[in-house]
Amino acid sequence: MAIIGIDLGTTNSLAACWKDGRLELIPGEDGEVLFPSAVGYVEREGFLVGAAAKKRLLTHPMDTVASFKCFMGTAKEYRLGDRMYTPMELSAMVLERLKRNAEHVLQEEIEEAIVTVPAYFNDKQRSDTKKAAQVAGLKVERLINEPSAAALAYRMAMGEEDRALIIFDFGGGTLDLSYVECFDNVIEIVAVAGDNHLGGDDIDSAIQSYFCRENALVEETLPPEELAAIRNLAEQSKCALSASGQADMELTVAGKVCRAQLTEDILFELCMPLFGKMKKLFLHLLEDADSRVSQIDDLVMVGGSSRLGVVRRFLSELLGKEPVVLDETDRVVALGAGIYAGIRRRGEEIRDMLLTDVCPFTLGIGIRNRSGQDKNVLSPMIERNSTLPASVKNRFVTTSDYQREILVKIYQGEEYYVDDNVHLGEVAIEVALKPAGQAWVDVQFTYDINGILHVTVENEMGERRQILLANQALSAEELERYTKEMEKIMLPPIEQPQNREMLARFLEYFENSTGERRERLGAMIGYITRGLCSGRKKAVRNAQENARAWLSMLEEARETKEERLFDGKDFESWEDEDWEEADGWESEEENQDGKDIGLDSKGEGDDNDQ
Ligand code: ADP
Ligand code: MG
Repeated sequence: MAIIGIDLGTTNSLAACWKDGRLELIPGEDGEVLFPSAVGYVEREGFLVGAAAKKRLLTHPMDTVASFKCFMGTAKEYRLGDRMYTPMELSAMVLERLKRNAEHVLQEEIEEAIVTVPAYFNDKQRSDTKKAAQVAGLKVERLINEPSAAALAYRMAMGEEDRALIIFDFGGGTLDLSYVECFDNVIEIVAVAGDNHLGGDDIDSAIQSYFCRENALVEETLPPEELAAIRNLAEQSKCALSASGQADMELTVAGKVCRAQLTEDILFELCMPLFGKMKKLFLHLLEDADSRVSQIDDLVMVGGSSRLGVVRRFLSELLGKEPVVLDETDRVVALGAGIYAGIRRRGEEIRDMLLTDVCPFTLGIGIRNRSGQDKNVLSPMIERNSTLPASVKNRFVTTSDYQREILVKIYQGEEYYVDDNVHLGEVAIEVALKPAGQAWVDVQFTYDINGILHVTVENEMGERRQILLANQALSAEELERYTKEMEKIMLPPIEQPQNREMLARFLEYFENSTGERRERLGAMIGYITRGLCSGRKKAVRNAQENARAWLSMLEEARETKEERLFDGKDFESWEDEDWEEADGWESEEENQDGKDIGLDSKGEGDDNDQ
């Protein structure tokens, strides 16, 4: 049984696999590895998928659809022939073609695929992608995020040192920015930012309008076929420009020969409004990642539109350094998916390669509005961009005297009022009969990498209610398996036995010390605790590594009675790097106030909505 990796793109899809120890892209019937994500319908003949459909888009724009990935997970439908089709069904057709083609090329049956999705895809979009694969006859155990796949491919090409990266994925319809940290065998997406309506298509539109302006054509009055032809010319000229630095445009429109010249400078001007949007996205991303340009090791350009010289020029001006451009930017994500498929096939190595995702939206519960308004507001439990798996526990108190019950309502979204967010479910539990504000419940949210949310509510009598929210119906066994797995995640790093034991040893040293030594130990304990509670894999690892190193020095000092840890040079030399980083965490913690895993947060007077 073979496993393939698939980049199911908005504009183009690709498949990759490991064959005879080598990573390969799988070419289609026409020898091309890029498979346009387009579907057309021909009366009495049936469906066209891929390049044939893309070509037909020119002559029959009404019977051909493309870019349907932009509407994945929504209610939008497309008419083809006498039936309406969802983006899920259209994606299934593309996947089915890729599967069939791979079987033909590899001469092997393909049962399973690793499919990539944008990091910001929500539950519905992810489950629709899985469904599409199912319809195409592919088993998808796990979706991986496009930037994680790109980071895998980057590591394979550039080496596996620790790195902080921004993956700049500029495709046909979208721009996705991801802040990714790579260390050991961990690829952690720290933050994502993006624009669903900013891509190569927008550049084509800008060139199209420029061409019309230059030739006094009024876009709105042109028939769809003529417009499609101009658009096609615009895209071709754009691609020619990135190959040769200049492009002459010429086309007969309504019997008249129209011309325009496209140069790098003209295109740079045309792209100005897009660059403005890009800059804003960078700022947003760095803010969310709590980072600065100077802390990034590389900016990795991915996606077909990253081939444009003007985009590279803009980025090197913006960042003050040259971006890394991997060969054939539009294949990088598929190559990463192929690498992951290889890892999966070999089975045993999968445990070594940890791809951590982020939660692309905030998950929380409804609480009483403090301003006294009727509308309940969202109290975030797991914030957008938290690293998964994540587990957060908070305490909430009653708002009425002697109320019998608390109803915990669970929501997903970024809006202030709960009604504007997506309601996911609810759990009711009895509470101790006490005056308002005195009875409480502990609410714990645990969210895993498969998009399954486990909510546990416990009252002060120790009674527990729980609910498992998944984007697909789960069988009884699956439910049990997930619940077991969740229990492991529910133990945040600070509560894990080996870390608790380590901290306990520091506390012992602390108790037995005085003066400056005691102060130093206090600072160490603070540093380790913050790291373990940070919710970021890298910070947890640094805390553990430093704690181990310090402990062994403390022990050595105790044995030799040399107190060099506190007087000598060794400590000074750590100080520069490690304590600086510790300060960084401090500010992060201030920003995130209380959302950290395992913090003993009391919900600070938050009132539950009952
Ligand atoms: P997606 O991830 O959205 O499926 P791709 O990464 O395949 O898309 O990128 C498709 C986009 O890349 C299209 O807008 C296409 O015009 C553009 N593109 C492809 N080749 C080039 C090139 N040589 N120069 C400029 N743009 C290109
Ligand atoms: Mg893509």
